Amino acid sequence: MVFPGDFLWGAATAAYQIEGAVAEDGRGPSIWDTFAHSAPVACDHYHRWREDVGLLAGLGVNAYRFSVGWPRIQPDGRGPGLSAGLDFYDRLVDALVAAGIDPVLTLYHWDLPQALEDEGGWLNRDTAYRFAEYAMLVADRLADRVGTWITLNEPFIHMALGYSLGEHAPGRKLGMAALPAGHHQLLGHGLAAAALRERGLKVSIANNCTPVRAASSAEADVAAAAGYNALHNELFNDSVLLGRYPDLSAVGAPAELPFVADGDLKLIATPLDLLGINYYSPTVIAAAVPGAEMPFEMRDIEGVPHTAFGWPVVPSGLTELLTGMRDRYGAALPPVLITENGCSTNDTVDADRRIRDAERISYIDGHLAALHAAMDAGVAVSGYLTWSLMDNFEWAEEFSQRFGLVRVDFDTLERTPKDSYFWFRDLIAAQNAG
Ligand code: BGC
Repeated sequence: MVFPGDFLWGAATAAYQIEGAVAEDGRGPSIWDTFAHSAPVACDHYHRWREDVGLLAGLGVNAYRFSVGWPRIQPDGRGPGLSAGLDFYDRLVDALVAAGIDPVLTLYHWDLPQALEDEGGWLNRDTAYRFAEYAMLVADRLADRVGTWITLNEPFIHMALGYSLGEHAPGRKLGMAALPAGHHQLLGHGLAAAALRERGLKVSIANNCTPVRAASSAEADVAAAAGYNALHNELFNDSVLLGRYPDLSAVGAPAELPFVADGDLKLIATPLDLLGINYYSPTVIAAAVPGAEMPFEMRDIEGVPHTAFGWPVVPSGLTELLTGMRDRYGAALPPVLITENGCSTNDTVDADRRIRDAERISYIDGHLAALHAAMDAGVAVSGYLTWSLMDNFEWAEEFSQRFGLVRVDFDTLERTPKDSYFWFRDLIAAQNAG
């Protein structure tokens, strides 16, 4: 497997999952502080960032995806940028650049300032405008050194788990009435993307994408799968790439979405330089049983390995996803950047201090082969960023799911590279050696 010479090799993290220091330097509370109260320290990256940049340098990556915590920049979600917060990311970016690592910056990875949630959060159209203002404060400080700007992380998951099912912050359980939270995130993306591009910056969004398969060829299962695909994938990809929303009637949405104003979709379809894709596994959908809350039912995939989280491991799903997107979007599909891909494992530290996370190595290896197959089939891919650099706060699962190349001991905060770290390091070095 030979990847192009200018391919981006890297790892990803997110502010709330690693930083800790939730009440330091004027940071305001985010919806996750309210919802979970569980990550006041997390990986303590806010204080240990130098060591973490050292880990990235040791890995030999040429890209690192991290997110800026909105409440560090605007504690209440509005007003001038807080210099202490901006200084933190300024130092981080400087250290990355000095180590020859391209900063890939995500502006929003689910940590909405609580003050904005108090005004309706992403259900409130105004939040989109607040987001675009915040984006400019960050750009004012970092645009000279940050090449790639990702507006949002996984607006689908944020809408679905945060506003529809209540499993993530802000914990709202609105079912299909959560759709405005999807639209307003996309509007915020469009407003920020247009302004960032005006400054000549490279813009992207990181969408969670999954190939959707029907549980059987029965008409009801096929229809439910199409509805789910529209909601999970097309709502977020058709809008940014084609400037239109899919038909969501199969999942109970009306044909006219009253919260979509004239001109919104044009903004949302602001051209992208890259499409960020977070891929973990395919989804199998069956028709819902009568009376169920949601108009579809998720099924497991049998006969394949499963991660510690219980997610099926299907590398070919990545090829299927990318070639399917090539067919659907054609020339409207910009180069793809894999902004997340990885797995959680039940790691143990052996007597010799080694962490033999063979499942992670096999997961990444299999997905790189699947990515290469998609590239051979004509999909333009500019890089692969694995999730995650280190074990961290895994949202609803708190610290129980470990996704890192580096183990974090959550009592001592000690970092220990796992076998997968050394394996990935050697793979990158071999690619660079040509
Ligand atoms: C999110 C990450 C998360 C990962 C594993 C993605 O949905 O962007 O924040 O840790 O999946 O669950």
